[in-house]
Amino acid sequence: MLENKNQNRTSLSELGEFGLIEHLTKHFNLSHTSTIKAVGDDAAVLQTSDKQTLITTDLLVEGVHFDLSYMPLKHLGYKAVMVNLSDVYAMNGNAEQITVSIAVSNRFPLEALEELYAGIQLACETYKVDLIGGDTTSSTKGMLISVTAIGKAAKEDVVYRNGAKETDLIVVTGDIGAAYLGLQVLEREKQVFQVNPNNQPDLDSYTYIIERQLKPEARKDIPALLKELEVKPTAMIDISDGLSSEVMHICTQSKVGCKIYEDKIPLDPQVIATSEEFNMDSTMIALSGGEDYELLFTVPIADFDKIKGNPNFTVIGHITAQQQGMNLVTRANQEIALQAQGWNAL
Ligand code: ADP
Ligand code: MG
Repeated sequence: MLENKNQNRTSLSELGEFGLIEHLTKHFNLSHTSTIKAVGDDAAVLQTSDKQTLITTDLLVEGVHFDLSYMPLKHLGYKAVMVNLSDVYAMNGNAEQITVSIAVSNRFPLEALEELYAGIQLACETYKVDLIGGDTTSSTKGMLISVTAIGKAAKEDVVYRNGAKETDLIVVTGDIGAAYLGLQVLEREKQVFQVNPNNQPDLDSYTYIIERQLKPEARKDIPALLKELEVKPTAMIDISDGLSSEVMHICTQSKVGCKIYEDKIPLDPQVIATSEEFNMDSTMIALSGGEDYELLFTVPIADFDKIKGNPNFTVIGHITAQQQGMNLVTRANQEIALQAQGWNAL
């Protein structure tokens, strides 16, 4: 986890807008030769190349996408960057730059924004992306943060959502469902804390799932790994909204159906244990949970030998003809139509 340290409160009005931007961005280093001009002019300047450019934006709103009562600002900054980098990696590209725009109410002191930017900076350093600009404004209530990521990929490497073909294998990276369950634990602790602030939560048995919620890591390693294995997915998407809706996006855009096998879905032991504790179905959580930021992709069956046995990958099903529909095959060997949120209960 990331540490928060600064307890002072300096009013934002003491710095002025330009002083604030300068204060928050002066320690960021640049690592890409494609970044010609970053923060400080009317616009950033990037050197174009013979590759294709990938651009993606996400807007996060306090109270809708994050709750600052259990999401430390440093984690929020880190996560806001991850959410965007994940989209670039899902195109099979590499991210090189980001812009960050924030709207903050006067409830936030300078130290709060320093924490936010410490998380953004850690993400930039770890993932080698350059902060090249943004915008700073005030809001009447709460915080908004919008990140745009800019990446590159050779034309022949870009992977879209619409290329999956019948018989292709469906593969996920890592394990899924943990981020959603981590959120459930944090929500529960928040309620316990509201009733009894002296109650010290014991979160030892939830460390993995809480970390997956508060400090997700985008899969920068996967485009590189696929290249090394000489595998080009036919379709790819990142798992931000839950496995079910992501599989359905690929199938709908590719005009195919699918079979996903319940017993193949990769779950961490903490996900299994915690879903039992919460009386929830772990398959349902994996299908509908969201925020895992793993990648989901399809590959021709001929590539099976190249991916099998790799600890990063799990084959969870295969693509079928569109008329066969999008189905989950349960442990009891029943076929159930997938729903954007989980599946259609019988
Ligand atoms: P303008 O008035 O031209 O919009 P700004 O004063 O908003 O310029 O921004 C000045 C510079 O600081 C620009 O390079 C802009 O991209 C950058 N910038 C503004 N806000 C942020 C922010 N929150 N994070 C990073 N860079 C920022
Ligand atoms: Mg501006």
